[in-house]
Amino acid sequence: MSRPLNVLFISSEVEPFAKTGGLADVSGALPQVIRQLDHEIRVMLPRYGCINERKARLHDMIRLQEIDIPVGSRHFAASVKSSFITNAQIKVQTYLLDNPALFGRSGLYVHPETKKDYADNDVRFTFFNRGVLEVLKKLGWKPDIIHCNDWPTGLVPAYLKTLYKDDPFYKDTRSVFTIHNMAYQGVFPRASFAQTLLPKEQNSDKGVIAFGNLNFLKAGLIHADALTTVSEKYAQEIRSSDEYGCGLQLILEKRKQDLTGILNGVDYTVWDPSVDELIPQRYDARSMDLKTENKKALLAKMGLPFQERTPVIGIISRLADQKGFDLIGSILDNLMQLHVQLVVLGTGEKKYHDLFEKAARQHPQQIGIALTFNNDLAHLIEAGSDMFLMPSRYEPCGLNQIYSLRYGTVPVVRSTGGLEDTIEEFHPASGNGTGFKFAEYNSGALLKAVQRAATVYADSAAWRKLMKNGMAKDFSWEASARKYIQLYRSLTRK
Ligand code: ADP
Repeated sequence: MSRPLNVLFISSEVEPFAKTGGLADVSGALPQVIRQLDHEIRVMLPRYGCINERKARLHDMIRLQEIDIPVGSRHFAASVKSSFITNAQIKVQTYLLDNPALFGRSGLYVHPETKKDYADNDVRFTFFNRGVLEVLKKLGWKPDIIHCNDWPTGLVPAYLKTLYKDDPFYKDTRSVFTIHNMAYQGVFPRASFAQTLLPKEQNSDKGVIAFGNLNFLKAGLIHADALTTVSEKYAQEIRSSDEYGCGLQLILEKRKQDLTGILNGVDYTVWDPSVDELIPQRYDARSMDLKTENKKALLAKMGLPFQERTPVIGIISRLADQKGFDLIGSILDNLMQLHVQLVVLGTGEKKYHDLFEKAARQHPQQIGIALTFNNDLAHLIEAGSDMFLMPSRYEPCGLNQIYSLRYGTVPVVRSTGGLEDTIEEFHPASGNGTGFKFAEYNSGALLKAVQRAATVYADSAAWRKLMKNGMAKDFSWEASARKYIQLYRSLTRK
């Protein structure tokens, strides 16, 4: 029998500690499943100021001053707290790397009020990347694999291939880098290169510089031993066009043998209406009529009238250009004429806050908004809506459309990335399919997809069949976790 692997999973967001989007869901769930499959996996993230010591059950592991992390010409003392991720019966050891001056703030990447990036994000995340490697040595725990996620971890593969190349401690350690979003690259002025202390040949287009700037994502893409992304479709998209590859597509095309698409899964201990503790009425495919109770509760909460035959369309999203809100904005009036109600939960760019605030003022009976981050409300929207709208410009995987399937909330999506891979168009004649899709990124195509959904909604029998199809889909993590383990093994000699 093959030996269990030691894996360190590093991420800037991990449920239940810190979350702005789907990366946190993945980082909280996947390690638990890998642990369940009998591998030793531990997780590391920065210890942000917003993580409550008591609620997160943090314990001191290594105190300040014990580890000294060099960043540019300065040194920052690192301390480590420990805790566990534990949703199921499984416990995954989690390390939180801290320096209060760098991470003792309430935002992860941006100032919560100004919404501007922290000016020292280069220093903060250089500290984190270098800190990961120094902490492991201090702990004396040697991973076979360091699994890195997105730009905030992009320097680790670069360090392993340069500064730590001859370090006996890391002789057998390999890196995997997972791309959750190509559009966020961790780009800093070239002067920030000095903070990394990487060898000077890296300070070039052949190294970690792209378009004249330091690029954390590129560092991960060129130095990791293997690359993955979170759907097969997105794996194709990011290496074949500038639009999806965001300028780094040629690197991906060159490494296409090393790049695989592994679809994200769902943690059904959290996102399933038959066990969901955050919704007023639990239900499953056999009791789907009970969903109406959640619809009533949702509408009451959003200050909208309940009308039995009016479909409620839910949106839960970061309010960013990626998510297709310009399309929604340009057809709002047409949507309202379809006699639907719209419920929006999201926070992000000001222009979209303005858009939805104005729309809610104009259509107080039809549009309800909560422009904030609220996990409880996210669950209620999944449970209480009839449709879920995700017209993304691009979507590496997307989780909410997959959650929606299990909640009997029919996804209306643009067929890109993971949306294409997880949703099948519903055909009323055959009764097959799980949602409604459109291909062209334009508002006319989106409107037509919503119209198709509204037409089927008016036919209760067809709609129930459609809901049932979605609720029967299984996107559990296990199959994907096994693919990651297979990949880890292919890189090690174990
Ligand atoms: P992305 O990672 O691009 O933000 P995903 O669909 O992969 O998109 O994941 C989004 C995750 O973040 C989901 O778990 C969703 O419920 C959650 N989420 C996004 N915005 C909010 C919000 N305003 N309040 C609560 N949860 C949110």
